Amino acid sequence: MSSFRVAAIPTEIAESVRKTGKDPQYGFPVHMEVAAGRAPCRHCLQLIRMKEEKLFLFTYDPFQELGVPPLPGPVYIHAGPCERHVGASSIPEEYRGRQLTFAAYGTSRQLMTELRLTNGNEDEEAQALFANPVVKYIHVRSTEAGCYLFRLDRM
Ligand SMILES: [Zn+2]
Repeated sequence: MSSFRVAAIPTEIAESVRKTGKDPQYGFPVHMEVAAGRAPCRHCLQLIRMKEEKLFLFTYDPFQELGVPPLPGPVYIHAGPCERHVGASSIPEEYRGRQLTFAAYGTSRQLMTELRLTNGNEDEEAQALFANPVVKYIHVRSTEAGCYLFRLDRM
């Protein structure tokens, strides 16, 4: 069985956004509002409570330090402090049964496989992708919104 680790965005990125009001990769101003819809925090990977909690929306390139070309897009984090998600070999509960896209990359950011999940089996599908030794990591995106959610790293 191929084990994997769930990688949320680094804490330094989240803290920098909260402290400066700009995203640390591009320097664009971040947007703050009370969550109005389904908004997963890319740091703790919990949902930001609708009509209750504030979020920051900012531009993030999930390929930073992994290769070129970059693929920047909008992501949310809690406006207030939260704990970075730590987990292994299991997709966080909030994302199970959702329409997810698994994009499996090899070295030099080469896209090996793209898989659209619709009916669960997230852990098994990820393990099956990692069974291919050329797959180095998987980016998990929302199929509907296209937004980057988190990364799965080979353990
Ligand atoms: Zn959070």
